[in-house]
Amino acid sequence: MFHEAVPWEVEKLCFEYDTEPYYQALDFKVKNYASTAGIEVFSPVSHTLFNPTDIIQKNGGRPPLSYQSFVKLAGQPSSPLSHTLSSLPLVGDVGSCVISEVPTIKELGYVDIGQDECSPFRGGESEALKRLNEIKNDKEWVATFEKPKGNPSAFLRPATTVLSPYLKFGCISCRFFYQCLQDVYKNVKRHTSPPVSLLGQLLWRDFFYTVAFGTPNFDQMRGNRICKQIPWNDDDELLTAWRDARTGYPWIDAIMVQLRKWGWMHHLARHSVACFLTRGDLFVHWEKGRDVFERLLIDSDWAINNGNWLWLSCSSFFYQYNRIYSPISFGKKYDPNGDYIRHFLPILKDMPREYIYEPWTAPLSIQTKAKCIIGRDYPKPVVLHDSASKECRRKMAEAYALNKDSNGMVSEEDIRNLRRKLKEDPEQEAKNKRIR
Ligand code: FAD
Repeated sequence: MFHEAVPWEVEKLCFEYDTEPYYQALDFKVKNYASTAGIEVFSPVSHTLFNPTDIIQKNGGRPPLSYQSFVKLAGQPSSPLSHTLSSLPLVGDVGSCVISEVPTIKELGYVDIGQDECSPFRGGESEALKRLNEIKNDKEWVATFEKPKGNPSAFLRPATTVLSPYLKFGCISCRFFYQCLQDVYKNVKRHTSPPVSLLGQLLWRDFFYTVAFGTPNFDQMRGNRICKQIPWNDDDELLTAWRDARTGYPWIDAIMVQLRKWGWMHHLARHSVACFLTRGDLFVHWEKGRDVFERLLIDSDWAINNGNWLWLSCSSFFYQYNRIYSPISFGKKYDPNGDYIRHFLPILKDMPREYIYEPWTAPLSIQTKAKCIIGRDYPKPVVLHDSASKECRRKMAEAYALNKDSNGMVSEEDIRNLRRKLKEDPEQEAKNKRIR
């Protein structure tokens, strides 16, 4: 599915079929067909380092809910298979069946994709192995890799491996990746360790797979026992502004353009936009943001995507809702000149450096010179960050108190009542209206 130069519209088509029930039904059909034909069916666990069932069993039947406890239980993964196949086996006699070619983009109905820039990442196993080889050869880089350090605005040479789409589509084995990292570590004096090391990132992947596998309704707020119940907004206007890169905050909008065009952004860039949409500024439901990511990411992965949205919205795993990413100063710290913004939002390319993160503060004469009038060529901010984030903190505090008082048994009615109560702050309501 992750082929050469696949535009995001085609990826979307693939994702529409990339659903668990579809695959389960297909697996069942294939297994059934093979068994009736006298073929032995064997289903190994190979998409993850560990078998989630084993970890859950070791933890007394429940998935471990912290990375540390997961790592303690996990131990070492089994090695990847050592033999390689250089070509696929011949198809053989297929009787009256017709083997169809892979359809072209045109045949899939995408004639004019109307996109000036496509994802620079090419698909396939050869490409994945080439990337991994380059990474392996840079021992110093692997040994000193430390997340969350790293520049989210680096786009000419991303600060991380960009192996996620290849892992997602099975172009590369996570066990082989793991073994390569171990080989590098054996040959260096010192190296970083989990959770921040590169090997630690692979363990994050397995951690989310294990929790997702063992948690009913993991992908929703209601009925999910590890998810805080929060009275999120259903504000489609704000959601659309965020999705379509029209929030008026260049750092946020540039990231959303990168998502749309490349289908990939750095981890901290994902943090910024996910925090902004949910508990940071807009207070929109994390499930809505999750859906947008699911459709547009080329590494879109059910367990990892939902797990990270739960994390970033402070619905699960991470609970420090007072720590909010600023849509202005966070990006500026890495890229004071705003090169990332200028690349993904060319309408702002001539905006002077001192206004690039807050163009609405530029005097009209400067906006005119930069050929970008705020409110006409580029939107005004949809909310004012200072007051919006303050309001989000207040709502989160109330929601957390409700969850604590109800001992995790928050009903729909409790949520409705809290939503009503939060709306009853007339001062804030008036402020929100003024901003809009
Ligand atoms: P590297 O830093 O090079 O890490 C190597 C590999 O480790 C990655 O390819 C990935 O498989 C794994 N990994 C790294 N970080 C994480 C993490 N936080 N959680 C789980 N596994 C991790 N990643 C996806 O693969 N698919 C998603 O759908 C996805 N959705 C996300 C949504 C949000 C809101 C956030 C904040 C993060 C999301 N991530 C997702 C996690 C992370 O951002 C990406 O895995 C990472 O940026 C991919 O780039 P990379 O391959 O260069 O990562």
